[in-house]
Amino acid sequence: MEKISIISARDGIRIIVNDEKASVEDLLTAWQPLCDDEVIHKQYAEGNHKACQGCKVNCCKTAFLIPDLVALKKLSRGTDLTYQECVKRYFDENELKLGLVRLKSNPCVFLKNNLCSFYDQRALMCRFYICADLLGDAEQLLYSIAWIGSTATQLFAEENGLLPERSGQGSGSFERLFYGLINDYRNDPRVRLFMEADDYGNIPLKPFLETL
Ligand code: SF4
Ligand code: SF4
Repeated sequence: MEKISIISARDGIRIIVNDEKASVEDLLTAWQPLCDDEVIHKQYAEGNHKACQGCKVNCCKTAFLIPDLVALKKLSRGTDLTYQECVKRYFDENELKLGLVRLKSNPCVFLKNNLCSFYDQRALMCRFYICADLLGDAEQLLYSIAWIGSTATQLFAEENGLLPERSGQGSGSFERLFYGLINDYRNDPRVRLFMEADDYGNIPLKPFLETL
């Protein structure tokens, strides 16, 4: 039996974890086919049933993205840039001044010719987002993993001097929302899983299932 099953039911997508030793990487492997799926109902896809590739709405054009810490580590390794250099090249200067490690966006800095140029290394928020209905537990599971990963990036940036010295909390509605979420997870012990991992295969799924 597969470690994780993704079930597309009439009322939404369900995630069933069959192996308690499954990792976040296993979840990503099981989840990825949804991007190419042409059967499930996708709210913004042409005709509501199309693969994400070629989507005219393309959520990458407007994504507000704080990548999780594993994605940031992969970006640094993949580009041979230091964290400081990555932040300078790929992150939004104004948001950094406001204290948030948000990628350059509108459109996303990695979007080239309507395709993600960072696809295999893209962040959890990108990998998990799909404009389809998810059942409650599935949404909560994906949401908590992605947000804890992003919180790890934020804390890593604060601890390693990646934010400007005088950065402060932003005042826009998105910034307030993001700060609120980061502060909710700031003391969550699962943040350490992202601090210590170099890959998603090193992050067990079990601690995220226990709070569902
Ligand atoms: S998830 Fe994004 S790319 Fe895929 S169909 Fe929806 S809006 Fe388009
Ligand atoms: S990193 Fe790639 S998948 Fe994520 S928002 Fe940017 S272009 Fe889209």
